[in-house]
Amino acid sequence: MNKFLKRTWAEINLDNIIHNINQIKNHSPNSELMGVVKADAYGHGDKIISQTMQQQGIKWFGVSNINEALSLRKVNITQNILIFGFTPIENIILLCKYNIIQTIYNKEYAIMINDFCVKNNIKIKCHIKIDTGMGRLGIVQSENHSCINDIIFIFNLSNLIIEGIFSHFSQSDDLNINCVEYTNSQINYFNNILKELKNNNIKIKYKHLQNSGGVLNYNNLKYDIIRSGLLLYGISPCENKKINLLPAMELKTTISMIKTLPKDSLISYSGTYKSNNKVKVATLPIGYADGYPRRLSNNAKVLINGKLAPVIGNICMDQMMIDVTDIHNTNIGDTVTLFGNDNNNFLSIQQISKWADTIPYEIMCVLGRRVPRIYFKNNKVIKCVDYIIGNNFLEE
Ligand SMILES: *Cc1c(COP(=O)(O)O)cnc(C)c1O
Repeated sequence: MNKFLKRTWAEINLDNIIHNINQIKNHSPNSELMGVVKADAYGHGDKIISQTMQQQGIKWFGVSNINEALSLRKVNITQNILIFGFTPIENIILLCKYNIIQTIYNKEYAIMINDFCVKNNIKIKCHIKIDTGMGRLGIVQSENHSCINDIIFIFNLSNLIIEGIFSHFSQSDDLNINCVEYTNSQINYFNNILKELKNNNIKIKYKHLQNSGGVLNYNNLKYDIIRSGLLLYGISPCENKKINLLPAMELKTTISMIKTLPKDSLISYSGTYKSNNKVKVATLPIGYADGYPRRLSNNAKVLINGKLAPVIGNICMDQMMIDVTDIHNTNIGDTVTLFGNDNNNFLSIQQISKWADTIPYEIMCVLGRRVPRIYFKNNKVIKCVDYIIGNNFLEE
């Protein structure tokens, strides 16, 4: 059951996910926690992660599209699933069939969906999204057009069951004064709309606004639901002294070759690294096709025997090189940590994302499909998932 390809793999600690769920629940006890599991649960594997969340009592799941929603239904996620993004009209029938909730983000789309539902004699559950400043999806207010009229119009469409209304923060992770001002304007905007709804006697059951940044930095808000992804995976979008989080994902590889090269040796494509001295080089079987950003060429470190070793030369599609001159007792087959724990040392995803000039979200969700996910519970491997060959091939 627990055999997997020990070339490059990701270790996912489910106890840490459970710890993070409990931390968030304690931090925001008055709101239901929606587990955001889009993008394969930020690379952690949506099936096992959402099952773990459901076992922990999570009643809401957030995904980006209908495929992701169906992927959850396929593994017996029976709780509410909200699609944040666009669903093509031809797939609307599936929303009804699998009891999936659709985001309605403007009047035209609402009419298209409602027409389809009327024709097919179905009704679907929806949450209305308001654009309070993200500029992505949502009903937009303009000078001569209040969005309350659109909301009322959508609310009265015959075959849409409107159960929720929400919006999305764009800068809630940043406590810089301008960002705080902007976020507060988003909150006020949203609250004004809720007030107007009340004045118009329109009752919508679920209201929600906060993402992970909002949960951390705007914890005074007490809407019905909070939508969190990043925090669940144990990463904070900003400096965090409020919630104790444990990162769930570690990325490991192994040494495939060690050699010593003379001074002035060029390493990898384009010769971007030239050795100043004699250098001991280890080759690793991981590259940008595994999700290790090429941007990290000559610009990152990895952990081996608890020590940092620099990445040298350009990262290739499937391989990369590190300088292990200062690390003793290295051998073919040794484990190398790209991020995570290694012999009492730790390399964070935040650090990797800084080196790569990106954000932790991207580092996690671009993890390659050919990297097996190894799930740990109580310090034991409980499942290995290989997206390429299936689960049990190596056991034969
Ligand atoms: C991705 C997403 C979230 C979760 O964001 P985190 O920062 O990971 O908590 C919440 N709401 C919407 C609409 C999203 O697209």
